[in-house]
Amino acid sequence: MSPAERWPAHLPEPEALSFGRYLAPFVVVAEHDAQQGWLPLEVLPRHAVRLDIASGGLQYGLSVFEGLKAYRDAAAGLHLFRPDAHCQRLAHSARQLHLPVMPDELLMSMMRRAVDVHRDHVPPYRRGALYLRPTLYALEEGLGLKASARHALCIVATPCSATSVAPARRLWAERELIRAAPGGLGTAKTAANYAASMLGAQRARARGYDDALWLDAAEHRYLAEAGTMNLFIVLRDRVLTPPLDACILAGITRDSVLRRLADRGVPVEQRPIALDDLLHWQSRGELLECFGTGTAAGVAPIAEIGWDAACVRSIDTQRSTQLARQLADDQDGVADDLHGWRIAV
Ligand code: PMP
Repeated sequence: MSPAERWPAHLPEPEALSFGRYLAPFVVVAEHDAQQGWLPLEVLPRHAVRLDIASGGLQYGLSVFEGLKAYRDAAAGLHLFRPDAHCQRLAHSARQLHLPVMPDELLMSMMRRAVDVHRDHVPPYRRGALYLRPTLYALEEGLGLKASARHALCIVATPCSATSVAPARRLWAERELIRAAPGGLGTAKTAANYAASMLGAQRARARGYDDALWLDAAEHRYLAEAGTMNLFIVLRDRVLTPPLDACILAGITRDSVLRRLADRGVPVEQRPIALDDLLHWQSRGELLECFGTGTAAGVAPIAEIGWDAACVRSIDTQRSTQLARQLADDQDGVADDLHGWRIAV
């Protein structure tokens, strides 16, 4: 960090930041008008961003978002991790809700700007990241349910700690409520899916677990994903993850982990995984560990998955620890950028 970008005095040390709590002061905004298209971007103080109570964004959940991170490298340069993949997923989410799609170059320039105006909020090398939350929502005022003629895309930012030592979580497999169903919005990163997950998460916590694990909507048997993480199961001879289907968010960390496993020649299968399969593998001593992946969490060990009267436990954290280190090396700029994932700001 150069003296001009000293870590803000009002913030705790990067290791003590709780995720999403300290919001950076500015928001990068571009509005979209049905007639004029995308209007020039602006940088506004966060509290100056406008959202009417009668907007479609608030009333009908007409909003989609992304979550990605900017890191400081060893030479104090700044880079974004896989911003192109996040641009594509935002466009997919926008299409699912019939919201306007922002061209990738415009979104990239907004993300660069959001990092640039908050250079001092990017933690030092290896000590965390600046998380960006591009959010697209319907702005038009009026209570009728219709496509809005005006939208905004805003990027809000929050500095966060490094994820390489995530604590192990315990998940409760939710067998009654569902988060998403085929034909619905499960593949979009949209407010409705998170609203649908709140009650299940709370029920899991009431049982002493950290979060809910979501199952398929038809049979309530197959693993889908956790609150904000995709799931992986490590067996003695291979690594498994549920296939991307109509209900699962296509995690970019999931993809990074799959590519890194492939680089090392680890056998991986994307296949449906039933709760009963977990019990079967556990009883035969084949199940070594479970872990989750996500931008906020990194690679997070899952100590236990519980449901009804059964549970399975990880007996190891070797593979997830190794993958968490590999991911942190890729993100921080320590490992060679084999896949072109780091884009300089
Ligand atoms: N599933 C859900 C529902 C999520 O919110 C997230 C976090 N974006 C993920 C999976 C993981 O996705 P990513 O690795 O792209 O952060």
